[in-house]
Amino acid sequence: MNPVGASVSTGGNGTPWRREPRTGSGVLTLPPLLTVGVDIGGTKVAAGVVTPQGQLLECVKADTPHLSQSPQVVEDTITELVQPLMRRHEIYAVGIGAAGFVDSARSSVLFAPHLSWRNEPLREVMSQRLRVPVVVENDANAAAWAEWRFGAGRGEGHLVCVTLGTGIGGGVLVDGALQRGRYGVAGEFGHMQVAPGGHRCECGNRGCWEQYASGNALVREGRELALAKSPMAHGLLRRVEGDMSRLTGPLVTEVAAAGDQAAVELLADVGDWLGIGLANIAAALDPGIFVIGGGVSDAGELLLGPARESFRRKLTGRGFRPEARIVRAELGNDAGLIGSADLARQVARRFGRSRRQRQRRRTNPRER
Ligand SMILES: [Zn+2]
Repeated sequence: MNPVGASVSTGGNGTPWRREPRTGSGVLTLPPLLTVGVDIGGTKVAAGVVTPQGQLLECVKADTPHLSQSPQVVEDTITELVQPLMRRHEIYAVGIGAAGFVDSARSSVLFAPHLSWRNEPLREVMSQRLRVPVVVENDANAAAWAEWRFGAGRGEGHLVCVTLGTGIGGGVLVDGALQRGRYGVAGEFGHMQVAPGGHRCECGNRGCWEQYASGNALVREGRELALAKSPMAHGLLRRVEGDMSRLTGPLVTEVAAAGDQAAVELLADVGDWLGIGLANIAAALDPGIFVIGGGVSDAGELLLGPARESFRRKLTGRGFRPEARIVRAELGNDAGLIGSADLARQVARRFGRSRRQRQRRRTNPRER
């Protein structure tokens, strides 16, 4: 570490401290707090160095270990990604974002659908291995935090972030504070039942919102259209050369953007369902903004236009209340990583503050 600036003193542990030149009050400050965010996805684990302004300085990736492998293999992967970053940058803390249930103390992963973690004390294990403070966060919470701090939700502390991927992830901020719930599992909007007796969900229930407003729903409906031998499906069939098993969400978006009517309608249907679910959430939480992220949100207005219309039609108290804005997320795939890193920074700051206090007491023993 080579902190820039004038007078550098060295603390008892050999850490150089920079004297803040602006104040002249002798207040000692730490150099910029760089933190690492780790995002554990279904296929890739990504780790990146993030500045206090939310800028991603460097990012490295590896394949996500298979579900059948021991928890330790995932922890090895994280360590192998993060340690080289820590050698190249001065890192104060690490935030790990994972899909799954994270306890409200943000220390253990209770359950992760893509990994072998069950009640895994991840914070303790990883802080011992990496020797810096570690926080663990649900990936959708981390994304919501990032969009509020640096993305589409800046300035609106009452925010709901909905991530549309293969399923639906959700994160809630009330007055700028993440709402994790009593047990850490708040914001699982994907499993709100919007169609009783509807499509079966992998959670075991029927009619969950993510069966209607996700990437999986988009693909299922596209294939169904083709199976019905509808001439409407001609454009989609041509794009996948007659093999509908090759149909993906991004392909539907691509064909819709080129003006194919069936693909436009498929996205509009998903948008309709999206608006219905958002109206339900608004009835409960009354946010000022909905930030819509995840792969399906790449469809932009083809999705959000219909979502706003159905939201308006279903909103409780419509006509007598201000409406929440529905906007597209800005940080894309990096949201979870940037959010995890920024949440870790809060811990690093506390850590830094206590180090700073210890340092000041050493220099001036009368100060308490
Ligand atoms: Zn479900």
